[in-house]
Amino acid sequence: MPRVSQTEGHRMTVSEREAQIITWLAEQKDAMLDLLRDVVNIDSGSYDKAGVDAVGARFERFFAEHGLLTRREANERFGDAIHIRLDDRLANERPVLLLGHRDTVFSKGEAARRPFRIENGRAYGPGVADMKAGLVMNAFVLAAFAKFGSPVPVAGLITSDEEIGSPACRPIIEAAAREARAVFNSEPGRPSGNVVTGRKGGVFMRMVIEGRPAHSGGNYEKGISAIGELAHKIVAIHSLTDLAKGTTLNVGIVRGGEAVNMVAPSAEAEIDLRYVDPAERTRAMAALQEIVATSYVPGSKAMLEIRGEFLPLNPNQTSEELFAHYQAAARDAGLAVEGEISGGCADSGFTAAVGCPTICAVGPVGGAAHTPEEYLEVESLVPRAQALALAVMRMD
Ligand SMILES: [Zn+2]
Repeated sequence: MPRVSQTEGHRMTVSEREAQIITWLAEQKDAMLDLLRDVVNIDSGSYDKAGVDAVGARFERFFAEHGLLTRREANERFGDAIHIRLDDRLANERPVLLLGHRDTVFSKGEAARRPFRIENGRAYGPGVADMKAGLVMNAFVLAAFAKFGSPVPVAGLITSDEEIGSPACRPIIEAAAREARAVFNSEPGRPSGNVVTGRKGGVFMRMVIEGRPAHSGGNYEKGISAIGELAHKIVAIHSLTDLAKGTTLNVGIVRGGEAVNMVAPSAEAEIDLRYVDPAERTRAMAALQEIVATSYVPGSKAMLEIRGEFLPLNPNQTSEELFAHYQAAARDAGLAVEGEISGGCADSGFTAAVGCPTICAVGPVGGAAHTPEEYLEVESLVPRAQALALAVMRMD
């Protein structure tokens, strides 16, 4: 597809270009839904590399068809990361980064069980809102800039492993954010239509307890109950919660024991820590280590491992300015948008932590993420794309 060169692009006035892009995006609703249907109907659970890469290939085809350049950053275990650029000449300028992940929480077969469908203005299917619609929106905004030019450098990044804490993509996201002038993360807009200006940090852990087996009738006193130890530890861990500070500890999964007539030789728990202030992470982790090291049932042993972690997105002056800037652009796209704080975690915490102004949940509006009831408000696709395009163009 022919595309307006950067010089031709600069000859247009900003308002001309804005009008062209707004009009073009408004005409793309059906094309957006076609691309969304394609990618929702491909399973892409975080551990399903083949599926995640198949979704990536579908997006790469879209970008090639719209004159955009892509570069894969390969990963052996998880899906490859995909970088998108308008053209090579912008490589040294600080771009606005449009960010999103294409993995979902759903297992293989889910797309076949409940394929993409639209009912009463809402679209359904695994990952439809979280966040394949956000990626489709980013893709069309980038395509609009490829077609009409952009007054500011802009780049895209599609990651592969956000739902498990971005073990592979975190350094890629951080590197891209260090180069960027701002990050818009296209997680789903809140059901209210608001975007997210603050997110909690999260640490996801597994604690394993070792006891000693014994016959519960014949040799009870020789046993060391790992389950008994776990019970003490759970109470102690939950008591570290400080709701006023936004710090929570949740033991979400427990396992343990082997038979009703055996003193439990082993037990384990999965623990989720959420916090706002990094000092609270320090406090809670130190207290947690203390609890792990304490044997409430003499002779028991425990160890703790961190299995995944997100950093918090804490509002600061530059992120508040970025939000105000986005809010004004959204108003011109017909949307009234406020900022919300969310207890949920996302990759936007990583980009904020390296000092890049970031706002999150600028994607199309949806809800009930991570459940079979997950939905997307179809009519939000175009205006959210227009709002994002205006916000990017006006960052000059
Ligand atoms: Zn997400």
